[in-house]
Amino acid sequence: MANRKQGEVHQCDCDVCAEHPRSKEAREHLKINRMVSTLDEKNARRVVGLMAGQIGRGGIALMMVVTGLSRNTITRGQQELETAEDPVPTNRVRASGGGRKPLEKKAQS
Ligand SMILES: [Zn+2]
Repeated sequence: MANRKQGEVHQCDCDVCAEHPRSKEAREHLKINRMVSTLDEKNARRVVGLMAGQIGRGGIALMMVVTGLSRNTITRGQQELETAEDPVPTNRVRASGGGRKPLEKKAQS
């Protein structure tokens, strides 16, 4: 099933990338694959599943071509997001120091 290794950037197979490798769309596909290459198997299928869902109709088919993941892998990622299995603890989501600065500080200048 898994035909990719983490850290290896998959080459998109779509017609746009083959014919217009410098086009905006081809660069987007490259970015997707670069991002996917940094993720482990589980996170890769979830992120790709999310993107496929956001594209809507034809999204899974497109993501299959772009990322080389199988339909089963992508739909599994989508199901995992739906069911919230393996949730991330909420206190680990944000890095400390993130978020907005308090407003009062600005007002006192
Ligand atoms: Zn492509």
